[in-house]
Amino acid sequence: MDAKAGARERLETARKSLVELSHRIHANPELGWEEEKASSWVAEMLADAGFKVERGVCDLPTALIARAGSGPLHIAFCAEYDCLPEIGHACGHNIIAAISVGAAVAAAKVADEAGLTVSVLGTPAEEVCNAGGKILMLERGAFDDVHAAMMVHPSPFDRAAASMIAAAMFDVLYTGKEAHSSFAPERGINAADALTVAQTAIGLLRQHITSTDRIHGIVTKGGAAPNIVPAHTSARYIVRAKTLERLQGLLPRVHRCFEAGAIATGSKMEIVGGDKPYAEVVNDMELVGLYRRNAEAIGRKFNDAAAGSASTDMGNVSKKLPAIHPGIGINSLPAVNHQPEFAAHCVKEEADQAIFDGALAMAWTAIDAATAPALRNRLISVR
Ligand SMILES: [Zn+2]
Ligand SMILES: [Zn+2]
Repeated sequence: MDAKAGARERLETARKSLVELSHRIHANPELGWEEEKASSWVAEMLADAGFKVERGVCDLPTALIARAGSGPLHIAFCAEYDCLPEIGHACGHNIIAAISVGAAVAAAKVADEAGLTVSVLGTPAEEVCNAGGKILMLERGAFDDVHAAMMVHPSPFDRAAASMIAAAMFDVLYTGKEAHSSFAPERGINAADALTVAQTAIGLLRQHITSTDRIHGIVTKGGAAPNIVPAHTSARYIVRAKTLERLQGLLPRVHRCFEAGAIATGSKMEIVGGDKPYAEVVNDMELVGLYRRNAEAIGRKFNDAAAGSASTDMGNVSKKLPAIHPGIGINSLPAVNHQPEFAAHCVKEEADQAIFDGALAMAWTAIDAATAPALRNRLISVR
């Protein structure tokens, strides 16, 4: 039996437990940095499959590294498992975890004959948008001996090289002065007005930015009571641009809109965070091509013309080593990521099928990479 058939056979035997893993994570949503259950279920399943598992790596309690095989090419599959506040697994990270575990288990079965070392990096807190798990794991050495990294993200449709742009998230804190809103409003400094001025300035700025840029946020604190002049307000914003370089040009313009609010009202302003932004994904197009061919061979259809860009800390990984981040369709339309309706789709039959297909396409891509001499040598020599 050839390596690809061996991987497929192994994946078939894991199919039921992978679906169970996905559904269990989905039913127990945990926010970024709190994925205790999800990371332990991923760790247990990989340990049962014969992987050497280290938990709490990189001083991150919910991160893990699981490894099998001893071949010259080291491929890592990234497993995300965090949810979103209030709407649970509306980005389908339960599916990502199951796909990466499945790909690793299938590839590990044939690792030595294919010349592979296979690992799963359990990467917490992708949705936090600043200093995500992969960024800290990169800084702390988890990717140092990895030649290429892969993951597959659920999406309304399959996309081989989806556009993933740079993003920075930060908090803006205004401090004014309380006063009785009726008896002595002239003694107050209104920190909520500062936010209104800033949002107005950002609204006007939007006409003068590139159409692919994004500026969006929420008010996290708007005041305590209508009869107290708001003295402490805050907002959380995300600014996105095609590349980190372009983001560095856009960020100061957005910060100035927040400064305008402070100046207009006499409030003090502080910006916190945004120090470890997400980079754009730089796809390794040779690996993307292999993934696409493998996925098509098992019946997937791609829609790469589809619009829409999101961001991921996989971007930071992709700027350090060869990487791919394809989307896998779960036939959710009109529901899209970050809607409760999408969360509901993430445990339907098509989501369960996506686990098998994504895992097999990634495992086969790893086998292709290990067995094609030119590609293998390129990947090994890049690092
Ligand atoms: Zn998301
Ligand atoms: Zn996501």
